[in-house]
Amino acid sequence: MPRPISATLHLGAIANNLQVVRRFAPGAKVWSVVKANAYGHGIARVWRSLAQTDGFAMLDLAEAVLLRESGWQGPILLLEGFFQPQDLALLDRYRLTTAVHSDWQLAAIAEARLSAPLEVYLKVNSGMNRLGFAPERLHGVWQQAQGIANIAGMTVMSHFATADGPEGVQQQMATIENAAAAIPLPRCLANSAATLWHPDTHGGWVRPGIVLYGASPSGRWRDIAASGLQPAMTLSSEIIGIQRLKSGDRVGYGGRYGATGAQRIGVVACGYADGYPRHAPTGTPVWVGGVLTRTLGTVSMDMLAVDLAPCPQAELGTEVELWGRRLPVDDVATAAGTLGYELLTALAARVPVASEI
Ligand SMILES: *Cc1c(COP(=O)(O)O)cnc(C)c1O
Repeated sequence: MPRPISATLHLGAIANNLQVVRRFAPGAKVWSVVKANAYGHGIARVWRSLAQTDGFAMLDLAEAVLLRESGWQGPILLLEGFFQPQDLALLDRYRLTTAVHSDWQLAAIAEARLSAPLEVYLKVNSGMNRLGFAPERLHGVWQQAQGIANIAGMTVMSHFATADGPEGVQQQMATIENAAAAIPLPRCLANSAATLWHPDTHGGWVRPGIVLYGASPSGRWRDIAASGLQPAMTLSSEIIGIQRLKSGDRVGYGGRYGATGAQRIGVVACGYADGYPRHAPTGTPVWVGGVLTRTLGTVSMDMLAVDLAPCPQAELGTEVELWGRRLPVDDVATAAGTLGYELLTALAARVPVASEI
């Protein structure tokens, strides 16, 4: 018997989530973002469930090549562009659309020997200060790019820092519109949060990632609970040990949880080496055999402890859901002081993955 832990991918949920995105952005084409190996779900496993998309976006050239070789013939966008001029041979061969955020990339495209011109996304830094040309340079860069025979179509691209919060996108939108006012190109601006909550950003293409996997861009499940989005991954395991504590007994490394009376606890085959957050404190929600309960003490590498007081029927072999259909990953992430993004992408390679419709 292998360890009882496993991740189940709900492929129907992923297809559903793309349809939800289309309802939110009916006029836009969709880049389905599958970076970080499809947010931990596995590009090879999930891309066919997203085959109704208009294109796939990612960072890693190797992932883009894998997707092409798996049979996807539509557009692929490299969100960070290429990392060295030699990469252009692969962009050419696999017909990849590339972000361009730096002068050296434009120069490299101009000098490359390509079989056909490439589609280019001109990235403007509208306030996030990560990648992109300064807004006041965008117009000049666009004019320069128009003179490069190796460039086919162009799109203006930018990225929002606060689309999921009260600050919204207004200031960055003003910067973009100011910089691109005289540039008659399509726009591609919206991440998941902007796709859901800022329709004025949609433009020609949206770029949702996290919502395709059924987690919230804000980190709060309640913000998407009514949207029709469905969790795409359930991480489950079983109780492999039971302990009966008496008052004063402590649990796990550091003895961080102490029983104040007689108490039954379960030990679950899941730890931080599986991708469960080590920082999840006592009280992090966990679903045990049909009942919502809480973790106790420090998460170990391979195990964690759960309170069985609310679930007296639980025994060895009882099913435990760490996150998924019955317990939003956002709720676990919130308790651990992080986001669903981090938990999903941190799923460890040692966890076996099964897919279901
Ligand atoms: C990750 C990423 C996205 C998708 O972000 P979500 O919040 O997951 O929707 C879109 N655009 C860029 C440039 C990104 O890096």
